[in-house]
Amino acid sequence: MAMRAGPKKHYPTALETYRDCPFKYRCGQDPEIKEKYRRPTPEQFVGTCVHDALEVFFDVRRTPMGQRTREHLANLLRRAWAGVDLTSRRRREREEERRRVFGDDRENEAAYGKHGLTLLDRYFNITDRTVVPYTAEQFHETALPSGIVVAGKIDRIDKMPDGSLKVVDYKTGKLPFRTDDESVAKEDLQLSTYAIVVTGKYRLPVSRCVLVFLAHDREVGFCPTPELLEEKARVIEETVRQIEADREFAPRENPLCPWCDYREICPIGKDIAPADRVRETPDVPF
Ligand code: SF4
Repeated sequence: MAMRAGPKKHYPTALETYRDCPFKYRCGQDPEIKEKYRRPTPEQFVGTCVHDALEVFFDVRRTPMGQRTREHLANLLRRAWAGVDLTSRRRREREEERRRVFGDDRENEAAYGKHGLTLLDRYFNITDRTVVPYTAEQFHETALPSGIVVAGKIDRIDKMPDGSLKVVDYKTGKLPFRTDDESVAKEDLQLSTYAIVVTGKYRLPVSRCVLVFLAHDREVGFCPTPELLEEKARVIEETVRQIEADREFAPRENPLCPWCDYREICPIGKDIAPADRVRETPDVPF
């Protein structure tokens, strides 16, 4: 008997991609195109490994409270880099990704590895190391009243003393250049979507949403009001309706074009010079 596919799940990063460029969104939704053109970057690889290390670090079953040391966190990054704690299938994928990203360039790989260690070392200084997350690195989903299903893999959800929830999203990249911290977090559709998903799934209020910029020792966030979440839900629904009605998925030039993996098959992107990768190399002492 054929399995019935459930309703399509909409992820905030994909919705944001559509809002930036419909052509890029469509490319990312096509597994063959994605497999052929997606070029994982060293920054993405570092980000994945940092997330894996923090997941194990804050899991009391795998890292008892007494073992939450700086050295252990650094070691977890090394283990994540090699895929040691992953299932055999995911370990092979990690090894393949690592080979695609760094090839034989051990010096470059070491530089990025040290960058990852620096990020975690800085975070170790500012984080509450006694936290026991409500959930960590788990997929969550909920249906909006319209029936649209929104989903996301949420880095961490903490339960606050008053029973409310706090949504935490780690960022390994740069802090966007903005004037005030709250606007950085509020404008992030991903974070608000997570608050909507968590509220819908657990029927508990989300009292705080934060982005943790590991490279800057900075946590920026906001307290989501029902009005704000209603407004963001409207943005999600409007974007999903636009996607469903779209027959062209036209390219839209935007500041991210130089970093786009699909430039070579994009009518606009093929004339745009790629970003200077050297500029992206992290400045780490080693
Ligand atoms: S290069 Fe720019 S316009 Fe073309 S698909 Fe990528 S983001 Fe869109």
